[in-house]
Amino acid sequence: MAPTSKELPLVAFANRLPVVKARDGWRAADGGLVTALRPALEKRGGAWVGWDGGTSEVPRRVEDLGAIRLHPVQLDRKTLDGYYHGFCNRTLWPLFHDLIEQPAFNRQWWDAYVEANRRFAHAATTRSKLLQETIRWVHDFHLMLLPSMLRPAKEKGPIAYFLHTPFPAPELFSRLPWSKELLNGILGSDLVGFHTDLYRDNFLRSCETILEDAKVEGTRVHTSDGRSVLAATHPISIDAQEFASASTQPDVERELKRLRTQFEGRKVLLGVDRLDYTKGIRHRLKAVELMFERNPSLRRKVSLVQIAVPSRDDVKEYRDLRSDVEGEVGRINGRFTEPGHPVPVHYLYRSVPLHRLLAYYRLADVALVTPLKDGMNLVAKEFVVAQAAGSGSGILLLSEFTGAAQELKQAIMCNPFDVEGLASHIEDALEIPEQQRRDRLSAMAGSVHNHDVFDWTNEMISDVEGMT
Ligand code: UDP
Repeated sequence: MAPTSKELPLVAFANRLPVVKARDGWRAADGGLVTALRPALEKRGGAWVGWDGGTSEVPRRVEDLGAIRLHPVQLDRKTLDGYYHGFCNRTLWPLFHDLIEQPAFNRQWWDAYVEANRRFAHAATTRSKLLQETIRWVHDFHLMLLPSMLRPAKEKGPIAYFLHTPFPAPELFSRLPWSKELLNGILGSDLVGFHTDLYRDNFLRSCETILEDAKVEGTRVHTSDGRSVLAATHPISIDAQEFASASTQPDVERELKRLRTQFEGRKVLLGVDRLDYTKGIRHRLKAVELMFERNPSLRRKVSLVQIAVPSRDDVKEYRDLRSDVEGEVGRINGRFTEPGHPVPVHYLYRSVPLHRLLAYYRLADVALVTPLKDGMNLVAKEFVVAQAAGSGSGILLLSEFTGAAQELKQAIMCNPFDVEGLASHIEDALEIPEQQRRDRLSAMAGSVHNHDVFDWTNEMISDVEGMT
């Protein structure tokens, strides 16, 4: 569809292009950001700039992404290693998640990060099709320098930046030797978006304390070159309608029936996470172990299903985590499996197809969403929507250190670092009366439906449209 006269086309910048190579050719990737941006890109016309994933044959268009143009960014091995595996995954990720693991500061990684951001900027400025007036929307911690690198072409429309992770407190952020450069990079935007007020305020306080020549006034930062940058809270969400409708499709019902037979007579606790140290899986397993230890009667009545999606297994901390998690699962099952009865912990180290994931969401009596720190956590939102769609009455046990906790107020809130408290919360959750469970669930599902991912996209775009 051609854009209307008022609507500027949109150019998205994200680490990866929204496509994957399947057996029968290239197609749109599954993923939250693709879902979020696709309608706006299709309606306004637009392009997506992203790393080509190391393959030089990415097409400029794929059929199921309509008229969206793809602009691949090429990164050589050394730049990719320093930028992505080094600075993004081993410096920024642990730093932005409150030092659950220690970040490593390495000059070569930083240089590669600067270089990779330059290549993204270069990809944008050398493509003639991008030179018309557009809204440029930069995503996430991979590209914090990019807004200021795009700025010299300012007359070509406003720039928005959204951070999908938490923004840490200035006391932590200022440890980074390049904290000033990152803030100045982000401040090349006109609008900076965060999931929560806390992350937004951490950013504003960081600007105030780290940058000598910027002035913070309310939620605006006045830069030394005379611009005013707005910092705003816009929590991301899911396509609630699509999740609700997919949750009751026949393939999900069939899978659910099979799972109900498998877990007959048992209450099911569910964890669904990338295998990442931020997700609190070790603490969660300890809490479940403690629960079985102090409640022998629950050993035959309760099972934990833990889906652990493989992630970053080229990084030592992630390999160590996998080995700790698998050791703990083995320990719990070794201690508490009773002859003739199923194991207490069902552990799946893999990604599961959507219809099966939805069946697990619907099966669960209690979802354990207990990250030590998480920018938002979409699993929490998907769980409440899928449960409500299937007329379920599941309980959401939610870490207070997730962005989702700011919105899903009817969850049972927990501090995931407090293993004893977590065990007690799980025991209590299993006892909550049905009507109360239903009331909590319908309030939470209602709030996700009321603010879905398309609201998120539209709010960011309408905030930035008209800014220069
Ligand atoms: N997910 C998936 N495959 C699986 C299990 C989960 O793709 O086997 C999805 C899940 O539906 C959710 C996302 O992974 O949309 C996880 O998002 P979240 O915000 O919870 O955490 P992140 O992995 O982004 O830190």
